[in-house]
Amino acid sequence: MLKTGVTGGIGSGKTTVCKIFELLGVPVYYADQRAKELMQEDKHLAEAIRQLMGPEAYVEGKLNRQFIAEKVFNNKPLLAKLNALVHPVVTRDVKQWMEHLEQVPYAIEESAILFESGSHRILDTIIVVYAPQAERIRRVQARDQLTYEQVIARMRNQMPDEEKVKMADFVIYNDMRHSLIKQVLAIHHILLSMSREEFKGSAPSPTEG
Ligand code: ATP
Repeated sequence: MLKTGVTGGIGSGKTTVCKIFELLGVPVYYADQRAKELMQEDKHLAEAIRQLMGPEAYVEGKLNRQFIAEKVFNNKPLLAKLNALVHPVVTRDVKQWMEHLEQVPYAIEESAILFESGSHRILDTIIVVYAPQAERIRRVQARDQLTYEQVIARMRNQMPDEEKVKMADFVIYNDMRHSLIKQVLAIHHILLSMSREEFKGSAPSPTEG
């Protein structure tokens, strides 16, 4: 099975794109959402987070997201330490999830920090969703009721999209000028044929053995 990643900056439209892939029957692993679950469910990880952030990191066994967000905001070294705990656990989890999928030509990991977390190393192809900055700001402001400055502050913490595009195998333009559905369908067909080629490559030929 082919392993594909979908990434892009905040508000670029990763989730929207992945919902279209899901409609085509492609399984999608949402890394950000799963990371939050693992921070809660994985006992070793939860203990390591408690050690790093203090006992207030959990309230009655529940992850105290607001406390953690406030502590790491403007504290890059602490954020790096937290990421060093969480990212390997998520990468291991997505690997296991993909290994247990059966009879699918390809599956997707969706993550805003695919490159930053090192997850891209376990993937065969990467799709970057690209949208103009002004459009992303407008969408995130509307979705999350944030101020312009709050969105910009979040963007500054991410790798610039231009860097991501350089490392992509496919780029999807979510700029209101290109059709998202047409672009997703075109990539879907390429990935299906890549997966068929890979299957042929791994199956023994009729003359072998
Ligand atoms: P984040 O990194 O913050 O999770 P994201 O990259 O997953 O963001 P989405 O949640 O898919 O982005 O999109 C951001 C917002 O913009 C959502 O409210 C979504 O419905 C809207 N949106 C995305 N693409 C389009 C589009 N082509 N047309 C209209 N609305 C869109």
